[in-house]
Amino acid sequence: MLEALGYAALAAKAPLIPHSFQRREPREHDVVIDIKYCGVCHSDIHQVRDEWGGSIFPMVPGHEVVGVVSRVGSQTAKYKIGDKVGVGCMVESCRTCASCKKGLEQFCSGGPSFTYNGLEQDKKTPTMGGYSDVITVDENYVLRIPENLPLDAAAPLLCAGITLYSPLAHWKAGPGKKVAIIGLGGLGHMGVKIAHAMGAEVTVLSHSLKKEADSKRLGADHFYATSDAETFKKLQGSFDLIINTVSMDIDWNAYLQLLTIDGSMVLLGVPEKQVPVGAFSLIGGRRSLSGSLIGGIHETQEMLDFCGKHSITSDIELIAIDKINEAYTRVVQSDVRYRFVIDMATLKTA
Ligand code: NAP
Ligand code: ZN
Ligand code: ZN
Repeated sequence: MLEALGYAALAAKAPLIPHSFQRREPREHDVVIDIKYCGVCHSDIHQVRDEWGGSIFPMVPGHEVVGVVSRVGSQTAKYKIGDKVGVGCMVESCRTCASCKKGLEQFCSGGPSFTYNGLEQDKKTPTMGGYSDVITVDENYVLRIPENLPLDAAAPLLCAGITLYSPLAHWKAGPGKKVAIIGLGGLGHMGVKIAHAMGAEVTVLSHSLKKEADSKRLGADHFYATSDAETFKKLQGSFDLIINTVSMDIDWNAYLQLLTIDGSMVLLGVPEKQVPVGAFSLIGGRRSLSGSLIGGIHETQEMLDFCGKHSITSDIELIAIDKINEAYTRVVQSDVRYRFVIDMATLKTA
């Protein structure tokens, strides 16, 4: 076994502390990755705090993992030692179900193996994530990071990037399409950059006016504060696509009214309460309400290549790993511009 060092929560809501554990030795098709950076996703916080239920402890979070290949298995074909690679939200799936065959591993019928707070396909070995120095992953679930992208700012592409790219591509954001992004956080700011690069007209709907200047710099064409009731009057029937990255309870019917005929609103965040939607909000305008979950492995590579071509990375604040608990508090307070990324070199001194 490989000795690994990371940061873990030992129980729900407990602070993260240094934690030693073991990874598997590389199998035939595995690569061993020396982790250089790992992004901090709001989902890490939900899971450490067991807000979705069923969390597995000890938990080493982290699914925006980037690093360098340090060892390869005997049959590894895609990667060699020294390659810059990433790992997102999944490290395995059954590979045989209809979803896996379509490249939609995130919807694997038996359940994909999520990178942490999940189980390997043996359904008993807990997975451990990227807040650590090393990880062993099957090469088919490893992504290549384009050479022109800095590794630290590329890390958030592995979750925030693909989570926005996938619905933007699926609902065909592009020239002539009006796209609104609700919430300018880790996910939302990637959505603005990617939708802008796809050629769509992008509007940010933020809960205050604080991020207006930033949103324009990131590529948004328009910015509105949702705390202003006028916003909802002014923007009635405006958008082809609204992507909701906020996990707070919002007035769903008010947002649905902002869609054009045949417009779609896509949920990414998971609100605590059930989503109350009036039938007339959908019927009047043939509107749709949908959801989206990360993206498949092939699509994640497509997203990385798109970001490489357009030089898109995340706006990050690089932190030492012993600042992770403070970082969590700041994410919850919306006090990050726009993603924390952990510098894993700081594990040695933590
Ligand atoms: P984040 O960085 O914390 O961003 C969330 C944004 O929500 C904030 O920046 C803020 O934007 C807005 N917000 C915060 N508090 C609010 C409030 N009280 N009222 C209204 N808006 C508020 O989080 P994230 O990492 O982007 O993740 C967002 C959500 O998506 C999380 O729930 C996460 O678990 C989920 N997620 C889903 C997927 C998926 O595949 N579906 C993947 C990853 C994450 P403004 O200041 O602009 O309003
Ligand atoms: Zn995430
Ligand atoms: Zn499957």
